[in-house]
Amino acid sequence: MTDLITTKILSGKEVAESVYDRMDESIISLSSQGVVPGLAAVLMGNDPASEVYVRMKTKRFSKLKLHSETFYMPADLKEHDIADVISKLNENPKYHGILVQLPLPKHIDTEKILNAVSPEKDVDGFHPENLGRLASGKPRFIPCTPKGILEILKHYDISTQGKHVVVVGRSNIVGRPISLLLGLKNDTGNATVTVCHSRTPDIGYHTRQADIIIAAVGVNKLIDADMVSPGTVIIDVGVNRVDDDSEKGYHLEGDVNFDAVQGIASAVTPVPGGVGPITIAMLVENTVEAAENSLKNRY
Ligand code: NAP
Repeated sequence: MTDLITTKILSGKEVAESVYDRMDESIISLSSQGVVPGLAAVLMGNDPASEVYVRMKTKRFSKLKLHSETFYMPADLKEHDIADVISKLNENPKYHGILVQLPLPKHIDTEKILNAVSPEKDVDGFHPENLGRLASGKPRFIPCTPKGILEILKHYDISTQGKHVVVVGRSNIVGRPISLLLGLKNDTGNATVTVCHSRTPDIGYHTRQADIIIAAVGVNKLIDADMVSPGTVIIDVGVNRVDDDSEKGYHLEGDVNFDAVQGIASAVTPVPGGVGPITIAMLVENTVEAAENSLKNRY
């Protein structure tokens, strides 16, 4: 009989708290120089999930006594009007970071709007200049979710050196940047990275060979027990609404069959409480860094 593994739960909440603790000093130092890191969040339309995400992010800024403001834009606003709003925010020194909550309404060219954000204020790290810098190993702002994944691995002493990491998903927000980061020649990289996506015929063939699986897809229970080899570390980025009989009518689950991989995986992030909280911590950290950079540019 094979021994069952005890699967460690990698708490994103715990990692996020350690990030907030280590940020205290920077925030105090900035404050002594008269600077309060500020975030402008641009929210277009009234998608309930986007509203919740923006509220969660700005709430954390308030808790840390940092400045944040949400700019609510009607869903039918024209593309050039939202570009104007961003251009004004680029010029406003009160805001060190600008976040455009995605998805944007269909009539808006998302790429155009993300490109309108000044790369110095692009705390989400979505601007092509910042993605290019990341790909060349000299990042300015690392997108928050991939940065958070590296933070979780570091916090729990999970090395990526020489490991085989299988990333499922190749979006510009999660899959692509994390696969680039893990392939870099540095302390948080040096992995051999396989990227799977919707055209990959047999994802299990790849995930079964992984030391670390990163699932960033948006399909509930895509990664099941038979796709995981004993001892694998799993980072579950997915957030999927699953209908239930609760008052809310749904609960959240990831891309991984969390219960089924217990006793097989050596470690797994839960959903909720895994990648979500650390993503918000990384947004705060990027905004604090942007504020520090603005001071350097001042002198
Ligand atoms: P996305 O832009 O929709 O990209 C999804 C990726 O998954 C694409 O590369 C797609 O392949 C691939 N895919 C779709 N169906 C697949 C399947 N059946 N098998 C294999 N690959 C498949 O999504 P995203 O923005 O990267 O987000 C992914 C998930 O993470 C979502 O659930 C999202 O809510 C969640 N998320 C969570 C956080 C957080 O803070 N916790 C942050 C960001 C995202 P193609 O490229 O071939 O289309």
